[in-house]
Amino acid sequence: VIEALGVRKRFGDHDVLRGVDLAVAAHEVVVLIGASGSGKSTLLRTMNLIERVDDGQILLSGTDITDPRVDADAVRARIGVVFQHFNLFPHLTVLDNVTLAARRVHRVSKAEAARRGRELLTALGLGDKAGSYPDRLSGGQQQRVAIVRAILTDPELLLLDEITSALDPQLVGEVLDLVRELKGRGTTILMATHEMSFAREVADRVVFLKDGVLVEQGPPEQIFGAPQHPATAEFLARVG
Ligand code: ATP
Ligand code: MG
Repeated sequence: VIEALGVRKRFGDHDVLRGVDLAVAAHEVVVLIGASGSGKSTLLRTMNLIERVDDGQILLSGTDITDPRVDADAVRARIGVVFQHFNLFPHLTVLDNVTLAARRVHRVSKAEAARRGRELLTALGLGDKAGSYPDRLSGGQQQRVAIVRAILTDPELLLLDEITSALDPQLVGEVLDLVRELKGRGTTILMATHEMSFAREVADRVVFLKDGVLVEQGPPEQIFGAPQHPATAEFLARVG
C-alpha cells in the first residue's frame, strides 16, 4: 500500500530522517516505536504530505506521491489520519464531524454520508452519540469519533500517531479496542505509539526507529522477545 524508499528529512542542520525504507502491505498493522525525537511523527507526516521529503520517494499504491506535480489534496483524501489531539469541530455534532470530509472532499451526498456515518458509529459502539456535541463526550469517545471520521471513506491507509497519549489511562483501553476492531476488519494501519504492550499484541510487524534510522523491524515476538540489535534491546529495557 505504502512504500518509503530512502526517505530523508532535515530541519535546519538536524537530520531527522536519515534514509528510511519502510513498506506496509495491504491489511498489515505496522507499529513504529522509538524514543521521543526519533522521527516517528515526521515519517508519518511525510506520508501524508504534511512534510515534504528532502530526498527519497514515497509510493502510495505504486504512485510516487513525492513527485511535486502530485495533487496533495487528492493524496490526503486516500489516507486516513488521526493524531494525538483529535481536533473535532466543537460546533458540529458527532455525526456531522464524522461525515464532513466525506461530503466536502469526497462529494458523497449528505444522505449517503449520514447513512454510512450512523452505520459505522453504531458498529463501533458510538451509535448513541451521533447527535451529541464533542464536549459531551469523554476523551476516549472523542478519539474514537476521530477514528471513525478517518475511516468513513475507506482510506487505503490509516495513519495513527500517538492516539492515546493525550488520554487519561482509564480511557486508553477503549481506543485501543477500536484499533483492534479495525485490524479485525482488515484495515491497513501504520501507527506510532509508546504503548509497548499494545504494540506487542496488535502489530503484525514492529519497526524500531532511532535517530531517524530504521534500526530493526520484525514480528513482535522478535522485537520484544529476541531483539537482534543492541539498540533495540537498550530502548526496550529503558521503556520497560
Ligand atoms: P515523540 O515520540 O516525542 O512523538 P517522534 O519520534 O515522533 O517523537 P518527531 O516528532 O518526528 O519525533 O521529531 C523528530 C525530530 O524532529 C525532533 O528532534 C523534533 O524536534 C524535530 N522536528 C520535528 N518537526 C520539526 C519542525 N517542523 N521543525 C524543526 N524541527 C522539527
Ligand atoms: Mg511523535
